[in-house]
Amino acid sequence: MATPPPRDFKSALTAFIDIVGRAAVLSSNEAQPAYLDPFAPGDARMWQASAVVMPSSVEQIRAVLQVANRFKVPLWSVSTGRNFAYGGAAPRLAGSVVLDLQRMNRILEIDEKLAYALVEPGVSYYDLYRELKARGTRLWLDPPAAGWGSVIGNTLERGYGTTSYGDHAAMQCGMEVVLANGDVVRTGMGAMNASRDWQVFKPGFGPSYDTMFAQSNLGIVTKLGVWLMPEPEGYMIARYAFERDTDLERIVETLRPLKLDDTIQSSAVIESAVRWAAGVSTRKRWYDGPGAMPEATIDAMARDIDIGRWNLRFCLYGPRELVNVRRDIIHRRFASIADARLFDMPYRDASDEPTGGGDRSQVGIPGLDAFNMLNWRGGSSAHVDFSPICPPTGADATKQYMMVRDRAAQFGFDYYGGFTAERRHMHHIFAAIFDRDDSARTNAAGTLVRTLIEDAGQAGYGQYRTHLAYMDLAASQYDFNDHALMRLTNTLKTALDPNGILSPGKQGIWPAAWSKDAR
Ligand code: ADP
Repeated sequence: MATPPPRDFKSALTAFIDIVGRAAVLSSNEAQPAYLDPFAPGDARMWQASAVVMPSSVEQIRAVLQVANRFKVPLWSVSTGRNFAYGGAAPRLAGSVVLDLQRMNRILEIDEKLAYALVEPGVSYYDLYRELKARGTRLWLDPPAAGWGSVIGNTLERGYGTTSYGDHAAMQCGMEVVLANGDVVRTGMGAMNASRDWQVFKPGFGPSYDTMFAQSNLGIVTKLGVWLMPEPEGYMIARYAFERDTDLERIVETLRPLKLDDTIQSSAVIESAVRWAAGVSTRKRWYDGPGAMPEATIDAMARDIDIGRWNLRFCLYGPRELVNVRRDIIHRRFASIADARLFDMPYRDASDEPTGGGDRSQVGIPGLDAFNMLNWRGGSSAHVDFSPICPPTGADATKQYMMVRDRAAQFGFDYYGGFTAERRHMHHIFAAIFDRDDSARTNAAGTLVRTLIEDAGQAGYGQYRTHLAYMDLAASQYDFNDHALMRLTNTLKTALDPNGILSPGKQGIWPAAWSKDAR
């Protein structure tokens, strides 16, 4: 690994302190353990930061960039650094300085009429939720599974939630970006000084660049517009249980047309029995033997807690009459799957808050219940995720499921997984849950996810997101025309960031300055 020579690095740190103040610079020791990946699928020191710098303004970022360029110090930008299961706040290249933007935490605008907000990187979903409530607006945000992270970090990582605004990248409109040379760019209508349409029309005039800064290392995003969902009159949370493991094919085939024509407005989540059970119980209660949980045990567990082998949740929004019509149509379709059970679904007014994390996030309330899964295995629990895109067909879902279930079982892991369906794609997420104090299981989880990504690549399924450990592998699978896409990205990277200071290795994008030998 090639960090700058120690003398230069010290000079860079002194210069950073001059810009942001002593309290806003952490040395490598001070940065531990907060900036080590808490869920690392291996030795967390492989992704260890050398320092942390916390600017509080765009001007400070520009000054930090000048220093980084002068001393060739790599900076790893995070908004709040809560990207757990994919690396947390840790950098891909060990020795990078984390540029932590959490102090830039202003909600710059909330427009109730046009239903959007403009935020800085440090604004968490909780912050925005509280502000929407405090101002008495009738707007909902769409929280990701863990609501403590930032709107900007999650949106840039193309995270998702479960309302009808669940596709976060699609709900982003307008960005301010600081380029490696310090230039400040506003995208879309934001490029026009007199315009007030920055958060309502994405493209602007001419080429559009917003997506170029998502999952990338081409700039530092300092402002971002996010569309918010107008509060509906009311809602209905729907839940189905399906008895057989083999029902997955029919579930997906039934769901697809209902999602494609918007009869189901929210994202729809299909969860395996283990994933559901892990939210409400511990594994020991059902099984404490070697290897993955046997099929008969999963069946017995599902019966005991009154869930299916597959469980489907979604939410309907709007006036009662409309919601009831949607429910009836949906129910007729799913009732054709043998033994499908529809749970009682009361219609509720928008102000009537549900209990339970999954349900609450479907009505725009952030929470942390997603971490209940850590109780499943206990100990210093962690997880690392396999996250391929799955086309919404029964055949693809079944193929991916069986591939993952069988491979996971070889490594002694349960199939903790599920599919979140948007209109034309599903995120298939499998989590390998392990105890970090057990190094053999930690390494097994790491190897399992790597093997799954290889399996998926061979079958033509790409990752939508991945842990630092697998970014090179996942990127290498996007190989059309001898990796033409990466050649294009590298051309842009070299032009925009000739010293290669911004997030080297992010998403498998390595600036020329960090050749293989230098990493
Ligand atoms: P969270 O919102 O979950 O805390 P992070 O702050 O950890 O998310 O960000 C997730 C990833 O997104 C980071 O590792 C980084 O690669 C990228 N990222 C986050 N914020 C920015 C930003 N402001 N500009 C550019 N990239 C960013």
